[in-house]
Amino acid sequence: MRYLLIVLFLSGQLSGSAQKPDKWIKEKQVASILRTLSADEMQGRRPGTPAMDKAAAFIASEFKKAGLEPLKGNSDFLQRFDMISAETSSRSLIINGRKLDNNEFTVFAGEENIKWEAGAAEIKYIKAGENFGQKVFAEFQGSGNVLLIADTSFTRIFNRFRNFRSPRWGGNVIVALSQETVYRYQAEAISTIKKISYANVAGMIPGKSKTDEAVSFSAHYDHLGIGKPVENDSIFNGANDDASGTTAVIALASYFKKLGPQERTLVFVAFTAEESGGFGSTYFSRQMDPAKVVAMFNIEMIGTDSKWGKNSAYITGYDKTDFGKLLQADLTGSSFTFSPDPYPDQNLFYRSDNATLARLGVPAHTISTSKMDSEKFYHTVNDEFETLDMKNMTQIIRAIAISSKGIVSGKVAPTRVVGE
Ligand SMILES: [Zn+2]
Repeated sequence: MRYLLIVLFLSGQLSGSAQKPDKWIKEKQVASILRTLSADEMQGRRPGTPAMDKAAAFIASEFKKAGLEPLKGNSDFLQRFDMISAETSSRSLIINGRKLDNNEFTVFAGEENIKWEAGAAEIKYIKAGENFGQKVFAEFQGSGNVLLIADTSFTRIFNRFRNFRSPRWGGNVIVALSQETVYRYQAEAISTIKKISYANVAGMIPGKSKTDEAVSFSAHYDHLGIGKPVENDSIFNGANDDASGTTAVIALASYFKKLGPQERTLVFVAFTAEESGGFGSTYFSRQMDPAKVVAMFNIEMIGTDSKWGKNSAYITGYDKTDFGKLLQADLTGSSFTFSPDPYPDQNLFYRSDNATLARLGVPAHTISTSKMDSEKFYHTVNDEFETLDMKNMTQIIRAIAISSKGIVSGKVAPTRVVGE
């Protein structure tokens, strides 16, 4: 028997509550924000494009209008950061006196000229049976010099991987196939390094008493940009993915500002670069002290009805903390409920921007209605405003506002994610 199937039914009960979500979260407002973010003018919001800057400026203006403050240490709502990508034009690697063929190693440069003798880099090994992708990806987070020796049993995956180029934070990583223990080596590489600038859009409402305890409401505002035309349409508008979540974050920011300060500090953030690797949420997480983040409501694709129909949504990683149960507690007496993620085989808990903070122990969960096994327009040019249900989406946003009451008011705190 799956977890308790809990369905969210929204009735008029909400309008009576002191929290007034009906009054301050309006369908017209929701539709207008979502229409703007998913319009063709936004060109599918691909990071690094002028249209993406336009989307960031729009979200920042909505945060300003709502009355949010920039995050501490920021002069405005843009949380800027840079990453790098590199093109290597020449390279050579000698291990224990043997010169490797170019197809036996690959270079991820962070500097234009790499010239290593023994001692210049940390040597690490990927042994047979270990997780190649995880081991390599872990080295992309750093800033030092690493020579990563992979067992030759990884030849097939290495060949698929060696031309993979995605933005990185920095550092120089050379990955080589070899069975040998490295005693001495020499490496050289000449590359051009390109800096790529990104920006999350973030603002906050300081808390009254528990000011250093943060509750964050987040979504990602990037999408796939322009792609191969389908019936003359080449814009991936990303109305559901994830302009719907970004709209919810803006609507919740304006709602909580009208409601007045809560005991805890509320942080509202639209992440960049989720589609290309979750770089925005990674950067954001590195600026926060995870121990001070009490909970994260990550909102991803709430524009269509869930598999249970209207007025229902699910929470990923439901069994990892009591976050879901606490949200339900605030919906007691009403017919509002949430359900656990019905697609456990899709590993959704680790596939969106909540994952970065969850790995650091934060009860960070994604709220969604997306039918992952049959979402018709997912990652297509047809993910357009017109395909979404504004009435239902507005109800979901109101339900999130209500269900967060215990957490934002400082009365309760979800248990932490353990063992990640
Ligand atoms: Zn998404």
